[in-house]
Amino acid sequence: MSVDAVSFESFCSRFATEKDCVLALYQAKWPNGFCCPRCRHPYAYVISTRRLPLYECQACKSQTSLISGTLMEGSRTQLRLWFQAIYLHTRPAGINALQLSRIIGVTYKTAWLICHKIRHAMSLTERDQLLSGIVSLSDAVYCDRPVPSLEWHKQEQPLIIGASGEPTGKVVRIKIKKQNKVPLKNRYDCPDQEIFIRENIDPTAQVRRIVKRRIGRQRNLALVRLCLDAESFLGHTFRGIGPKHLQVYLDQYCYIWNRHKQAVFSELLQACATTRTITYPQLTGSTLIRSSRPKRQYKVGSSLAG
Ligand SMILES: [Zn+2]
Repeated sequence: MSVDAVSFESFCSRFATEKDCVLALYQAKWPNGFCCPRCRHPYAYVISTRRLPLYECQACKSQTSLISGTLMEGSRTQLRLWFQAIYLHTRPAGINALQLSRIIGVTYKTAWLICHKIRHAMSLTERDQLLSGIVSLSDAVYCDRPVPSLEWHKQEQPLIIGASGEPTGKVVRIKIKKQNKVPLKNRYDCPDQEIFIRENIDPTAQVRRIVKRRIGRQRNLALVRLCLDAESFLGHTFRGIGPKHLQVYLDQYCYIWNRHKQAVFSELLQACATTRTITYPQLTGSTLIRSSRPKRQYKVGSSLAG
């Protein structure tokens, strides 16, 4: 049975031991079989005297561990707890570090780090998947005040949302990006959309710019509502997020939304197995989303193009 559709209890039974997880992580990391990270040779000797297996390349003799080059590199947390954390991050409601620390029995700091690392893998996955086909754009405001003004409130963050959809208008994929908070010139001022278009939309897409404006009446309510849903998710699960880490939490929301609330453990495990880890200083500094994975681009919904 697929592990994507089971309860948490069944999932824990399926991955009850480190041995269970080693095999699954091996397959996620090397889906086509072992590949030496140094010389690409396909065969290795397995050294099983450590907590986790070590692989010695039969050609160049270099050794690599199972978690080397993955999100778990350097972690002493058991794989089965990592697996549980990854599974719990695929749930539509998400999970915060305090909840995770209680469920898998680790310290809050360890849980916090695991959550951020998994979120990092989600964020990179979302970065690589461009909007395509028919794409609608709108701006929106995170923590929008009921009575907006030309002055930005410190809690407010300008956003741009892009949504690709079917000809019927049904939205199938979204991206929400935080924008720089620049002074508003007038009531119709809105963020520059060019950077968003360049970085997030396939060049062949048909882009419909719907400019809601900060205070103007021309709102795309469907897109604004999606941003409100994201804000509600962040408020409910994380008790609100400040501007520093807002983007990766928005990426997490979009990652789950874009999978239409279907559990995606296998996909997320593969992302964690192919994403280089991110350190505590990187997470707490300003280099949060430096690329640690080769940039790949997929066309999603390309059949809608034109
Ligand atoms: Zn080698």
